[in-house]
Amino acid sequence: MVMTDNLSGERRRQGRIEVVCGSMFSGKTEELIRRMKRAKFAKQKVEIFKPSIDTRYSDEDVVSHDQNVIHSTPIDSSGNILLLASDIEVVGIDEAQFLDEGLVGVCNQLANNGVRVIVAGLDMDYQGVPFGPIPALCAIADEVTKVHAICVKCGALAYVSHRLVANNRRVLLGEQQEYEPLCRECYQKALEAEGATHPEDDTEEDRQTATAPSHNH
Ligand code: ZN
Repeated sequence: MVMTDNLSGERRRQGRIEVVCGSMFSGKTEELIRRMKRAKFAKQKVEIFKPSIDTRYSDEDVVSHDQNVIHSTPIDSSGNILLLASDIEVVGIDEAQFLDEGLVGVCNQLANNGVRVIVAGLDMDYQGVPFGPIPALCAIADEVTKVHAICVKCGALAYVSHRLVANNRRVLLGEQQEYEPLCRECYQKALEAEGATHPEDDTEEDRQTATAPSHNH
C-alpha cells in the first residue's frame, strides 16, 4: 500500500458535519456504519467514538441491532474526541445524545479542520423532548438525515420511542423490549391509556412523567 496522501500534509478534503437522527429502531447506527464502511473502503482513516455509558453489547465495538460490527472507542466526554482523532479523516459518533453539549463545538472544530464528521443519535427522548446536543448539532450540520422506525401499532412512520416500563429517568439505557416505536397518533393514545391505568406515578425526577397530558401545552 502506498501512502501518498500525507507526505505533504496537503488537505484537499472539505470538512463537513452530517447528522443521522431518529427514534430507536430507526436504523441510525446502521446508517452510520454504512457511511463509515464506505469511507473505509475508500481508504480513508475512520474511527467511531461513542459515550462510555453505552455498554449494551460491548465496550469496544459499535454494534447495531443486526450485529453489523465496526470498531469503536468509548469516551467519557466530547473533548476526548479532539485528543484521539488527530489523524482521522472520517469521525463517526454514535449515541451522541448521551454526550455533553461541548460536542457541538468539537464537531465544528473537526469540520473546520477538514474532517468529515458523522453523528448518529436519538433526536428526542421517550417523552418527545429534544435530546442532549442533537438539536444543536442538527442546526449546525451541513446535512441532516432523519430516519424513521415503523409504528408497532399501525405501521405508519414512527416519531417517538415510547417507554413501556414505569420509570421516568431520562437516560434509561436498556434493552429494546423496554421501548416501542410509535407514530404521533398512537403515542397520544398510549399516553391516554397510561393516564387511565396509573393515574399517579412516582415523580421524584425533575422531568414530567409521560402521563402528564399538558406536556406540549
Ligand atoms: Zn401508529
